[in-house]
Amino acid sequence: MMIALSGTPGVGKTTVSEILRDRGHNVLDLNLLAEENDFVSGYDEKRGSKEIDVKRLKEFVMEHFTEGDFFVEGHLSHFLSVDYAIVLRCDPLILKKRLSAKGWSSTKIMENIQAEILDVIKVEAFELLDKIYEVDTTSKVPEEAADDILGIISGKYEEPHINWLEKYEYLLFE
Ligand code: ADP
Ligand code: MG
Repeated sequence: MMIALSGTPGVGKTTVSEILRDRGHNVLDLNLLAEENDFVSGYDEKRGSKEIDVKRLKEFVMEHFTEGDFFVEGHLSHFLSVDYAIVLRCDPLILKKRLSAKGWSSTKIMENIQAEILDVIKVEAFELLDKIYEVDTTSKVPEEAADDILGIISGKYEEPHINWLEKYEYLLFE
């Protein structure tokens, strides 16, 4: 069983993954895997982000991680052949704070909060996979987000009501 932990950068995938590992779960870090195996195909100067060869990354994971149960975390994880995806979400203004704290440029921050407002990753995952779940990390501590994720894998899920567009449409025009 392979479960994608995806979401816009800054929603908390890596932070929550550390907790899942502490609780005994296997979590594959896709960003690290891409770096270590040279699947970084270029650098987008304008966006200040690495370009990853998703096809090669996917092939590599399919070839090397065939057995066992694990999560695979990263904003590209829903592109892999996973059983389902858990998409972490975050209120765009809180996401802005989280990304500012990482020292990201305002252009990159705006691009990501707009993607979060427009449900980009959720829609991508929904188009590719049969099943997706969402966890709203906004007013939770990482431990609670991890609890929600572990709840989902044991069959407990309460779909959060997420409609950032309703509240933050104005941010799309900045
Ligand atoms: P991602 O891997 O999705 O890009 P990171 O885990 O690197 O995100 O960063 C998320 C940031 O948000 C961290 O600084 C983390 O401490 C903070 N944060 C606050 N609340 C949460 C939460 N509920 N879940 C995960 N991260 C959170
Ligand atoms: Mg991360």
